[in-house]
Amino acid sequence: MVPVEIPPYVLLLPGIWQDSNIYLVRSEDEALLIDTGTGMFIGQYLPFLMERLSGVERLTILNTHEHYDHTGGNLRMKAALEKRGITVRFAAHELTAEAIEKANDRIILAFHYGRSFEPHAVEVKFTGGEGLRVGSLSFEVLHTPGHTRGSIMLYDREEKLLFTGDTIFEGTIGRVDFPTGSLGEMLGTLNRLLDLDVDLGLPGHGKVILNWDENLRKVLKLTEGLL
Ligand SMILES: [Zn+2]
Repeated sequence: MVPVEIPPYVLLLPGIWQDSNIYLVRSEDEALLIDTGTGMFIGQYLPFLMERLSGVERLTILNTHEHYDHTGGNLRMKAALEKRGITVRFAAHELTAEAIEKANDRIILAFHYGRSFEPHAVEVKFTGGEGLRVGSLSFEVLHTPGHTRGSIMLYDREEKLLFTGDTIFEGTIGRVDFPTGSLGEMLGTLNRLLDLDVDLGLPGHGKVILNWDENLRKVLKLTEGLL
């Protein structure tokens, strides 16, 4: 696993095996971690994270949705960060938060990995449309159902960066056949994304999306073909 520096402020830790990508955003004495993988490979990510977190006092772990390959590492990550004196809180859409707080494995799907999910509190709950500040940076939370009902994206309007979770990848969309997934909602989400000005898509798995507009039109066509 080789971390990828994405200017001006993002560190991408490409997911190992089936882990989600993990993104670290740092500004001043605050940081944001987007998704945590399954937790099986946390020891391999931590050295790169810790190197970046010197001087950070507060960190938010934001889950784009509840699937185990994005949330399985939540508690281990929190414990490791708290050991370094960093205060950690969790943030997610309220529907994702509900699944996490109840350890609803019908949606989380830890059993796919032969694991069980340990429930925990989610301190910040979104419905979509909120702002999220990290130091001097500000993001918009977009509710983007389709892959799961509580999927969110995080948008930096100034830098035109979009963290897409499992909704859009390079060349394709996330699966819609898991519990709470919906092809119709996915299509609505993709259509709403046409209004956004995006330079770079940062997905939950795989490579960053450099050709955003072209890719969005392609996956939209693909999704319409599935209806
Ligand atoms: Zn997923």
